Amino acid sequence: MAWLVTGGAGYIGAHVVRAFASADIDTVVLDNLSSGHREFVPDGIPFVEASITDSVALARLFADYSIDGVVHLAGYKYAGESVSLPLVTYDQNVTGTARLLEAMANAGLSRIVFSSSAAVYGTPSVDVVTESTPTSPQSPYGETKLIGEWLMRDQGVATGLAHTSLRYFNVVGSGSDDVYDTSPHNLFPLIFEALVDGRTPKIFGNDYPTPDGTCVRDYVHVADIADAHVGAARALMAGTALEPVYNLGSGSGTSVGAIMSSVADVTGIRFDPEIHPRRPGDPSRIVADGQAASRDIGWAQRHTVESMVASAWSARQAHA
Ligand code: UDP
Repeated sequence: MAWLVTGGAGYIGAHVVRAFASADIDTVVLDNLSSGHREFVPDGIPFVEASITDSVALARLFADYSIDGVVHLAGYKYAGESVSLPLVTYDQNVTGTARLLEAMANAGLSRIVFSSSAAVYGTPSVDVVTESTPTSPQSPYGETKLIGEWLMRDQGVATGLAHTSLRYFNVVGSGSDDVYDTSPHNLFPLIFEALVDGRTPKIFGNDYPTPDGTCVRDYVHVADIADAHVGAARALMAGTALEPVYNLGSGSGTSVGAIMSSVADVTGIRFDPEIHPRRPGDPSRIVADGQAASRDIGWAQRHTVESMVASAWSARQAHA
């Protein structure tokens, strides 16, 4: 028996596959390689190249492999870009998720861990977000992640599907040098691309109401995020009732300015970041309480911000 990891060739999914392997749980990967990389999937892991919107491919996969449960990460993942691509975002994240749930129901599969996001909160009015903080997504991406959570809940009521949704905060770092964040839109890769190209990293806004004027985020190490999926899968296999949603946050925030200083320390490259105007839609601060996930699925932030920067830089250099 194995767990299916949709989006298992992506930056986070590839770490989930490795975390399951470390826990002696077999996986099968489904990915359409739209943002994933075939080489991120370790040798020996069955790989199916198909979209989650492809009902025929899903039915064939569930017929070909004996699957215990599903970790569902596949989808359109660029929050900022989703504003100009709402239909693509809804197709991948809502239609795709509905097709996956339908194929699972047809195959008699009843466990799923869904990849959700801090984007469901939009701009929170509290210093530390908990699972009961009201949701208010501000992009098609955030909307579709929230709808995904509702699909889990509704399918749970309709069919008895055992489910939980993990709301990731700012996922960074690398668990091994062979997988790194290739996103062209996030802070860490943008800093590293600039340094590798001999350009100066940019800070989007230094006039926020934060201690150093730059945005504060809750950075979490991707290997810790991956381990939380193992904890959730094990709980579902044991028949433990889980909450419908968990925040995977550390409870403490780090400013963009502090990340820049850490990058300078880790890389040994001295630079004064260029200050640019605020990026539209960026909340000044978003930090989450991860205590419920610690209690129920063994979530823990085991890495420091410095080790997140160092591991991300090491993996980026390995791919230079
Ligand atoms: N950011 C920045 N310079 C960059 C990229 C991002 O100052 O080159 C800031 C961005 O404005 C935000 C933070 O870094 O305040 C984290 O951005 P990211 O896109 O990584 O994640 P988000 O929190 O937007 O999901």
